[in-house]
Amino acid sequence: MNADLVVVGSGLFGLTIAERAATELGLKVALLDRRSHIGGNAYSKKEEQTGIEVHQYGAHLFHTSNERVWEYVNRFTDFTNYVHKVYTNHNGVVYPMPINLGTINQFFNVAYSPAEAKALIQEQAGELAGTDPQNLNDKGIQLIGRPLYEAFIKHYTAKQWQTDPADLPASIISRLPVRYNYDNRYFNDKYEGLPVDGYAAWLERMAAHENIEVHLNTDFFEDGHEYSRSNVIGQVPVIYTGPVDRYFDFAEGDLSWRTIDLEQEVLPIEDFQGCAVMNYPDADQPYTRIHEFRHFHPERDYTKDATVIMREFSRFAEKGDEPYYPVNTSVDREKLLAYRDLAKGEDKVLFGGRLGTYKYLDMHMAIGAALSMFDNKIKPHFENGQKLEAGGVDA
Ligand code: FAD
Ligand code: UDP
Repeated sequence: MNADLVVVGSGLFGLTIAERAATELGLKVALLDRRSHIGGNAYSKKEEQTGIEVHQYGAHLFHTSNERVWEYVNRFTDFTNYVHKVYTNHNGVVYPMPINLGTINQFFNVAYSPAEAKALIQEQAGELAGTDPQNLNDKGIQLIGRPLYEAFIKHYTAKQWQTDPADLPASIISRLPVRYNYDNRYFNDKYEGLPVDGYAAWLERMAAHENIEVHLNTDFFEDGHEYSRSNVIGQVPVIYTGPVDRYFDFAEGDLSWRTIDLEQEVLPIEDFQGCAVMNYPDADQPYTRIHEFRHFHPERDYTKDATVIMREFSRFAEKGDEPYYPVNTSVDREKLLAYRDLAKGEDKVLFGGRLGTYKYLDMHMAIGAALSMFDNKIKPHFENGQKLEAGGVDA
């Protein structure tokens, strides 16, 4: 076997491990992906007719406050100064998201100051004001009061998760800031932007090291190639970033995931909605949001004759669907603990990334986790013979 390390999955987690192992340790790395391209869900390509860059697996916005991750990603790409802003169409009226003073004043048709708006929301949060609820429903009401929750969150969340918000963790909604000023930046992070020459160029540069051999259209679980599970387990260290339940042949049951169906359309107009993302928080549209990709790159000289939009529909993943978002109910968490125990027993296999750890990871978190795994486990193993063990599914 011509590899010192096998990495299963070429998403940002796998790419970071492969790049570090090749560059810093000089290891020969076999990087496998069952898809026909590298980069996992961050991958993008130009739509053929218009030349507009389309994120194939849903819109991806890079943002981080982690200095180390920012320095690392800038080795492979420059970033534009794009700042993400989202609008939401409720009952045929467009409001800024995330909820800010502009949304509140427009919704209640008032001109409140920050203090007045806070007092109003406190009152509307009722008995939940000032508490720290654990589920999404109560957390939503506590954060923004019931009227705003019901307008902008309740049905959107129902469409997105098809799980009672009372059974969803509060952490999902805590991702969205609520601001008592007119700042409607979607993210709070220190750094933000899009890769100047596209995601594919960035991701390909990460895999460009001569010690990295990329094997596309190659499923780890299928025999008939050099790096299949049956050939490599126990022989050479493996970093596995596919679904953890699949690795163990679903022995502890299936973890539940949500997938999304993306409906792409090229329209013969310059501008469909005037912004990159419009959310649809009402129950009567089946989609959660529409992306219009030209707006991610206002600095590019795109055609004015056409635009590309993508409607996003969310549903439970069945076997064979792409697993996108971990649902993470209490039953899932029990199964995950059982998988973590199984992972500890695996010889020279580490589990990482969004699928391997069953965690909702943004790109910067996947990269940060991979850098930590490299420092704490992979490097000490190859340099000092430290035992390579999972210690659970812990990225
Ligand atoms: P992935 O990118 O999923 O890569 C895993 C790879 O493993 C895949 O390429 C898969 O084909 C491969 N694989 C799986 N099983 C096997 C197998 N058996 N054999 C071979 N290969 C296998 N993050 C942000 O920071 N900003 C955003 O705006 C954002 N938007 C998102 C929107 C959507 C719809 C989704 C789903 C995610 C979004 N993310 C966003 C998260 C981002 O996609 C992840 O952080 C990133 O993809 C994590 O990388 P990863 O390597 O863990 O997983
Ligand atoms: N959300 C909502 N209304 C919105 C936008 C978001 O209710 O207009 C909730 C919803 O539950 C969603 C969560 O906030 O799952 C996180 O939103 P985000 O936009 O961060 O989700 P992602 O881009 O990861 O799908």
